[in-house]
Formats: sequence, structure tokens, C-alpha cells
Amino acid sequence: METASYDVVVVGLGAVGSATLYQLSKRGISALGIDQFEPPHTLGSSHGETRITRLAVGEGEEYVALAKRSHEIWSELEVLSVKKIRTKTGGILLDSGVNPWSKHGVEGFWERTLRYAQNQQVSHRVLDLVEATENYPAFQLPPSAKVYWEEEAGYLFPELAIETQLDLAKKQGTAIWTSSKVKSIQSEGAQFRIQVEDKEILAKQVVLTAGGWVKDFLPMPSKKRLSICRQVLYWLAIDEGVTDWQRYPVWMWGYGAAPEDFIYGFPSLDGKTIKMASESFVEVEHPDQLNREVTEEEQELFWKTKVEGKLKGVKKQILKTSVCFYTLTEDARFLIEEMEGNPNFLWVSACSGHGFKHSAALGEDLVKRLGY
Ligand SMILES: Cc1cc2nc3c(=O)[nH]c(=O)nc-3n(C[C@H](O)[C@H](O)[C@H](O)COP(=O)(O)OP(=O)(O)OC[C@H]3O[C@@H](n4cnc5c(N)ncnc54)[C@H](O)[C@@H]3O)c2cc1C
Repeated sequence: METASYDVVVVGLGAVGSATLYQLSKRGISALGIDQFEPPHTLGSSHGETRITRLAVGEGEEYVALAKRSHEIWSELEVLSVKKIRTKTGGILLDSGVNPWSKHGVEGFWERTLRYAQNQQVSHRVLDLVEATENYPAFQLPPSAKVYWEEEAGYLFPELAIETQLDLAKKQGTAIWTSSKVKSIQSEGAQFRIQVEDKEILAKQVVLTAGGWVKDFLPMPSKKRLSICRQVLYWLAIDEGVTDWQRYPVWMWGYGAAPEDFIYGFPSLDGKTIKMASESFVEVEHPDQLNREVTEEEQELFWKTKVEGKLKGVKKQILKTSVCFYTLTEDARFLIEEMEGNPNFLWVSACSGHGFKHSAALGEDLVKRLGY
């Protein structure tokens, strides 16, 4: 069997892997990217038309710099590809004031967001209820509501971002194997032997960006630290003439005390629908066990608990759904670790449901960690 040899192999070409491969290609490193499917695809955590990006990330102040740097990289990618990856719409974070509202594992998400914006020079405002209701009448807010607005927030096209980074990497001569599942990775002296279907590769360094499937490779107790949680995206029909959804910012709204008491959404891209979702923390063992069907009952429940009485300007008509999943750590932090203490083998968790906006800079960070 012929054994190919590379300096770096990136396993998994979703948000983080495609960014890592692009950064390696920019530096002229001999690299190979491998994915079990044909990225961008709809089976991992990086599909579904749009992802929110915002700078004052309440999940952790240390992530603000990553989000800011990612915006610079998206702009660079837009120039190189002549494609629009990021759209700035502004963004609002609504908190109904039912305490304690936590999100992504942290208490006081709204207050943290505001504090990080102040600390990190993120352009923002706090709106009073009168102004918020005037500007955004679609949200049926209680008198206790708090409203944070951020200028640079907006949305990304995730599939396009992945495709663009892979295309650019390919153009620089970086090798990409798709529909190729990595079966095993073993250290062999100063290198790693990677088994892919019926082929073998030798690599000096490995980055494992396999999303939720990273669990297939992790030993205990790391494996136990990651939870796979199914999420559903919904496209609802617009009730014409009620809300001008096309001019809306991206939005997030914590309306109750539990982490699930949360909805978020996007401006309408087509003038006919808006995409919105909630969050679920029901765990499945593995991404391959995910139920991809969204039943009528589930849709009905979504309408009743997440939309009715909260939003004006949408019809009780769900036109499309898509199933995706989060890979969560308990405190919503990203895990970037050496595998078994070897600095040449990094693994990355799929970023706890808030990683897309950071992925471009995370790819750059990983490449720096490898010494490039
Ligand atoms: C519904 C939903 C909404 C979200 N909203 C936001 C948002 O608004 N803003 C935000 O910033 N983030 C958001 N996120 C989080 C963000 O999308 C994820 O953190 C990010 O996309 C994860 O990317 P990844 O590269 O780690 O994983 P993935 O994109 O899943 O990529 C992993 C890749 O590894 C491949 N792979 C796995 N195993 C193997 C193997 N053995 N061999 C070869 N290839 C393999 C897979 O095929 C896959 O392509 C959301 C996530 C979801 C699910």
C-alpha cells in the first residue's frame, strides 16, 4: 500500500477544519484535509443557511478578540473570493428580566454581554422599552425587558464560508480528500499514521476538527466532557404587512429562567420567511444517532411554546425545518487540547453551539499553535 506523507493533516472540514486548512495553505504548508462527507454538507453542525455573529459574546470575554479577528478574516475571504460571506445587520439581545436567565452555561448572559461590550470597545447601546418597541414592534416584550443593541453584529453564510476556504486552500495546492472517513490515528515515532478507508497517510502533525465525531477519537475522561444535543431550525411564513422582517437585525431573546427559554432569529432573506430557532439540551450519545425527522407534533410544540404570544408578523405555517446539533461542554467553553500530551496532535471541540463566528480566527490560532 502506498503511503502519502504530509506535514499536517486536518481531520474534519466543517467550520473549524476548513478555516484551519485555509490558514495552512496561506502559509504554504504541505497539508491534507479529510472529510467523511462532501463539505459543506447538512449532517454536521455548520449548515442551515445562516449563523449569527456578534462581538460582545456573553459566553466569555476571552472570545471577544476571536470574534473581532474572525470579522477581519471574513473580509479578507470576501475580497479573495468576490463573494459575500458576512452581512452586517446590527444585533439585539433581549432579556425579559425573568431571573436568573442563563445561556450557554453562563449566568447573567445579558449583563455579561453589556459588560464585555463596555470593556472591549464594542459599539453598542442599551435601548429603553419605548425605543425598543418603536424600532422592533415584532417582539412582544414585558415591561421588565432589557434590550442591548450591537452595531457590528449580523449573519454569516456558513456553507459559503466553508466552501470558500476549501476552494482557496485547493487553489494554493492543498490536498483535500472528501467522502473519506478517518478510521484511526496512531502515533508512530515522531509521526502519526492515519488510516483512511483503504489508504494510509503519514503526518508530522494532526488537527482533529471532527465536530461531534471528535468523540470517536477521544479517550476518557475527555470523551465524557462533550454532550451532543439535537437542535432544530425553523423557517416560518411571514404574515405580510405586519412586520418588515427584511429590515430586522439578528436577534436573541431570553424570555424565561431556564436555558431553553430562549429564541433567536434572522432578518428575512427572501421576503417570505424568517428563520428562527430555540435551544435544546437533550443529549444523544453520538451524532450518527441523531433523529433527523421533525414531526408535526414537534412543530406544533415549537409554535405554542416559542412563537405564539411572542412574535408579531409570522404565520402558523412552518415551511421548512433542518436538524443540526451542538457539541457542548458544561461551561460552554471551547476545548482545544493536545491529544495525550503530544503538542503535534491537537483536538478541538465543536465549540458549544456558538463557534461559527469564531471559526475563522480559531483556524488561525490552531495553525499558530502548531508553530506556523
Ligand atoms: C442549529 C445551530 C445553530 C448555531 N448557531 C450559531 C450561531 O448563530 N453563531 C455561531 O457562532 N455558532 C452557531 N452554532 C455553532 C457553530 O455552528 C458550530 O460551533 C460550528 O459550526 C462547529 O463546527 P465544527 O467544524 O467544529 O463541526 P462540523 O461543522 O460538524 O464539522 C466537523 C466535520 O468533521 C467531519 N468528520 C467527522 N468525523 C470524521 C472522520 N472520522 N473522518 C473524516 N471526517 C470526519 C464531519 O463530516 C464534518 O464535516 C450553531 C450550531 C447549530 C447546530
